[in-house]
Amino acid sequence: MRPLLLLDFDGPLNPHRAEQAPPGYQPREIVEGEKTWRVLIDPRHGAELAALDGSFDLVWATSWEHGANRLLSPLLGLPSDLPTILWPDRSPVRRGSWKTPYVADWVGDRPFAWVDDEVGEAENVRFSGAHQLIRPVDARVGLTGADFAALRGWAAGKSFAGKVFPGHS
Ligand SMILES: [Mg+2]
Repeated sequence: MRPLLLLDFDGPLNPHRAEQAPPGYQPREIVEGEKTWRVLIDPRHGAELAALDGSFDLVWATSWEHGANRLLSPLLGLPSDLPTILWPDRSPVRRGSWKTPYVADWVGDRPFAWVDDEVGEAENVRFSGAHQLIRPVDARVGLTGADFAALRGWAAGKSFAGKVFPGHS
């Protein structure tokens, strides 16, 4: 069983808090109907994520919801049929990210890594299993080589095959 890689977009793949495009990023426009979004994309990320595809099952975990496959996957050269976590209610929660209860339900007992700019201590406490990796990303910088190395290293250091993991929901 391969671990899931839960991918946030705004922050990790679009460093939307950067004052100017960090090295390697290009400004891109996403247009759909009357709407236009301006994002920063690092084309190398597509290749980095494709390389991780052997170690993880990629999952969109972004407020773009189904728009991620439709609008973001093509920008990054990712498959347009990635599983997508949906968030029917984005009300603030008492601790941590509003995504967390949905993530907990969605992943169940599966091993997973989660890259997001809005995760931190609360998620580290909630998902503290050896089969769970919370990787906060700076929204001014986006995913870096160090993040990809950490993900590769974490997946390589685990043998998920045949293991049964305790529930954390
Ligand atoms: Mg984000």
